[in-house]
Amino acid sequence: MDFDVQKIRQDFPVLNQTINGHPLAYLDNAATTQKPIQVIEAVADFYKYKNANIHRGAHYLSNLATDLYEQSRQTVQKYINAAHDYEIIFTKGTTEGLNLIANTLGEMLIHKDDEIIISIMEHHANLVPWQQLAMRKQAKLKVIPFADDYQLDFEAYKKLFTDKTKLVAITHVSNSLGTINPIKDYIQVAHQHNVPIIIDAAQSIQHEKIDVQALDCDFLVFSGHKIYAETGIGVVYGKEKWLEQIPPYQFGGDMIKDVTIEKTIFADLPLKFEAGTTNYVGAYSLKVALDYVQNIGLENIKAYEKKLLNYAIEQISQIDGVEYYATKADNKISVLSFNIKGAHPYDVGLILDQMGVAVRTGKHCTHPLMYALNLNNGTARASFAMYNTFDEVDQFINAVKKAKQMLS
Ligand code: PLP
Repeated sequence: MDFDVQKIRQDFPVLNQTINGHPLAYLDNAATTQKPIQVIEAVADFYKYKNANIHRGAHYLSNLATDLYEQSRQTVQKYINAAHDYEIIFTKGTTEGLNLIANTLGEMLIHKDDEIIISIMEHHANLVPWQQLAMRKQAKLKVIPFADDYQLDFEAYKKLFTDKTKLVAITHVSNSLGTINPIKDYIQVAHQHNVPIIIDAAQSIQHEKIDVQALDCDFLVFSGHKIYAETGIGVVYGKEKWLEQIPPYQFGGDMIKDVTIEKTIFADLPLKFEAGTTNYVGAYSLKVALDYVQNIGLENIKAYEKKLLNYAIEQISQIDGVEYYATKADNKISVLSFNIKGAHPYDVGLILDQMGVAVRTGKHCTHPLMYALNLNNGTARASFAMYNTFDEVDQFINAVKKAKQMLS
């Protein structure tokens, strides 16, 4: 299929508006993506004609909703090439997924003086749960530092392992910088030490092909809202052998086979991890969103986003007094973090907003990364998705030039 950005844009009604008298240039896609009309209508249609609580009913609508929920699980399974659909657990997002893993696998594996390896570029969602676990258990967090060019130091990573290392948790892609980590290599090293590894795919699922069997990761998590689905839905992929071993995360309805006052027999996978009424409509929205992405083709999306990013880098590099970070386009997704020298990123963001350009500013939930790079006020971050255009990059660049004039 030919990649036709104008046609794609017609599917995203939110993009077709003016903000502060300018056409909206929505460049905050790493925070959340906009939703295509196919997803919006599928959700409305669900509530209009299909809604009932899943897994409980003898009646038609409950069975229909259950079927759609399980079909959604299978769509996710195929999308990331998991071996089994019951290795897909629906959560409310990446954050909940990582908390689930820290509170189950982490609780099981980590004891006093044990070590957990994370990296300096983790989002707080893949840092604070491990830090808190380490504090509870009197265990230790070890951190993969930066090498050059905003890449992690792979050699340093290898040296962090000791016989106390029990877990590795690492992001596939940095949300602040866009750097893609060669996670397959990281996974191999962890497995050479017989240590399970958890991958935060919140920023890669929408840009990079993910095959959990080829990667051989033990767990992988992501959020639906970053890949054009509703918010409040996410995924934990876990290898069957781990999901069988670890305890449930939450207790209540739907995750049981039988309950007496004295004891509970838990449900089989995946329901053991899906206590209570889940966001089954959100799961369905994720199915529709993944179908939408696959229809356009992730490779096409990736190739287009790369062109946009390269163009943006080329343009921003011509503005004196602007610093930008981690712009080696070969191994990064379409995120451009920058600062106007001497200006606070928040002020830059406000001026860009006056010109219709939506970017994120601050430390992007990666405080340790920002401190390590001496970027104590953070950065402004433009992040591009498949529906952004070269005209929007021009609008963004003009807005940065204007901000620079006003702030210097
Ligand atoms: N991990 C990374 C790399 C992220 O970029 C984000 C969100 O920006 C998260 C985790 C947390 O995702 P959520 O807020 O959807 O739970």
